[in-house]
Amino acid sequence: MHQAAIAALGLERWSYQLLPVPPDLFAETVRGLGAAGFVGANVTVPHKEAALALADGASPRARAIGAANTLSIARDGTITAENTDAPGLLDALAAIGREPAGSSALVLGAGGSARAVVWALREAGAAVSIWNRTPARALRLADELGVRAVKRAEPAELLVNCTTVGLASSARAGDDGFTSLPICADEVVQYACLVDLVYSDQPTALLRAASDRGLETVDGLEILVRQGARSFTTWTGQRAPLAAMRRGASSATRNQQR
Ligand code: NAP
Repeated sequence: MHQAAIAALGLERWSYQLLPVPPDLFAETVRGLGAAGFVGANVTVPHKEAALALADGASPRARAIGAANTLSIARDGTITAENTDAPGLLDALAAIGREPAGSSALVLGAGGSARAVVWALREAGAAVSIWNRTPARALRLADELGVRAVKRAEPAELLVNCTTVGLASSARAGDDGFTSLPICADEVVQYACLVDLVYSDQPTALLRAASDRGLETVDGLEILVRQGARSFTTWTGQRAPLAAMRRGASSATRNQQR
């Protein structure tokens, strides 16, 4: 996705590369990035909390969420942490004309991505409820962020899937995409818009059910692209070429899942 953006803008001196890092080498590796010529990094699971902890400075948003997915490295080696997952979701919703202010949202899941999503929607003025397979985790997250935890799916304007249900691995484990969720395919009509964070080269069962019934949908690739676009602009100062990033992300996902 980022290589596609770099190529589209002709940024010949830039490159984006994958650095698989074990947790025990994370801080040491990140501290060495500036000297190696890196101006930033995206950070993904399981390093997002560690990224925030090691940064010299952080945006109020990254601090409030408790996790960072974007690090920027200044010339003097100072590292600043940001979270673009939360505004990336709001950007994707704004692009289809959905403003969360004054609306209701049900978030499925209480893991790392749910945390950023709940925070973003609450900050944007939505009334947020959280359902999770393990109810105690939903309760904890809801208490912490000042929203509601629910035991059953309630109707809302927006439904956001932040569980791993829909990943190819969960399908291989025998889940049809609904078995362990609190709704069945026909119940998606309780929502006007469905966002699925899971990204895959095929629509997830949840997204298929929603689009078959005429709901508005946003898929995980769009969410991925939107958070990536914000990271790209933070590092390069350039407007992110979204179409090129979508093509790059979708071709990388196809190759990964082959
Ligand atoms: P995580 O922290 O590991 O949380 C996983 C969540 O999924 C937990 O709430 C867990 O519930 C739930 N879960 C797992 N298996 C389940 C099942 N069989 N039935 C019902 N719930 C189940 O993961 P995460 O980082 O939040 O990521 C969640 C998904 O979002 C992943 O697919 C990830 O790839 C995707 N994601 C996408 C983007 C994007 O940019 N598009 C960004 C971040 C994440 P329990 O608490 O009960 O275990």
